[in-house]
Amino acid sequence: AWRPEDEDGQRRGASGPVKVRVPAKVNLHLGVGPLRRDGYHELNTVYHAISIYDELTARRGDTLALTMEGEGAGELALDDTNLVLRAAHALAGYAGVAPHARLHLRKQIPLAGGLAGGSADAAAALVACDALWGTGLARDELADIAADLGSDVPFLIHGGTALGTGRGEAVSPVLARPTSWHWVVAIADGGLSTPAAYRELDRLRDTGAAGAPLGSTDALLGALRQRDPRVLAATLGNDLQDAALTMRPSLADTLKAGEAAGALAGIVSGSGPTCVFLAADAADAERIAGELTAAGVCREARVAHGPVHGARIV
Ligand code: ATP
Repeated sequence: AWRPEDEDGQRRGASGPVKVRVPAKVNLHLGVGPLRRDGYHELNTVYHAISIYDELTARRGDTLALTMEGEGAGELALDDTNLVLRAAHALAGYAGVAPHARLHLRKQIPLAGGLAGGSADAAAALVACDALWGTGLARDELADIAADLGSDVPFLIHGGTALGTGRGEAVSPVLARPTSWHWVVAIADGGLSTPAAYRELDRLRDTGAAGAPLGSTDALLGALRQRDPRVLAATLGNDLQDAALTMRPSLADTLKAGEAAGALAGIVSGSGPTCVFLAADAADAERIAGELTAAGVCREARVAHGPVHGARIV
């Protein structure tokens, strides 16, 4: 098998461990269009990377092995169904190298939370293994491999704030002021299945019970070019929110508690059940997180800021 130390020149790879940090994402706008022939919905979304991170460390090894700690440890399978290992195999296949590495995941992004944690881990694995193996792919090549692993994975390679189209895999950066927005992230007990949330939205739409779909992203994109969080707050929206609320009615209490605590806006993140709230500033975010915890409407409330970088070696 190919070994980094067998090669000369630029394919040498890293000899020490490679540590990659990758953020969670929220969708500031999640417009869900029609169901496509391939089973995916056409999306029009604005992704935003926030400062809740998973960390993946890659070391040389004679086989491919994964260990983990943190959120979901003991629940998440560490076999070839894990997105970390699927990503490592995909990169090795593309680059024509042996998929040998010892990988360790430190997870802070909750499982099945609507924050794209699994996709984040796949993005981290691509960046970490690319460095470990010295395969030296361009970010765009990594994003191409990422698209086959999941719709959100290309965004998590890039990070920042970006427009997502297609099934979400086609990303382009959004022009925004270099402002930092302050968020409160209310993490629920247990997860929600993303496919189930899309099926529930289809059902609500078929029976005429769904709200009107979101319009264009123009107002949001305009809001991102200025600095007033109140303006941004008025433009947040998620077509999957009604589906998440039907599946988990208690989220209505979480959203209400956030707004009662002074959040400028609150939405369900992606397919839920995590709720995210926009705060006026960092101090307000801390205060709102404290009130949400005290109100007992979530397992844990964390503060975060965004946008932040995508998967990066630290
Ligand atoms: P999204 O916001 O993209 O819908 P999510 O945050 O709701 O995703 P994830 O935590 O990304 O959900 O994962 C959903 C499922 O993917 C998990 O329940 C698990 O079965 C599978 N999975 C595979 N690998 C991973 C991983 N490394 N981390 C989390 N989930 C993984």
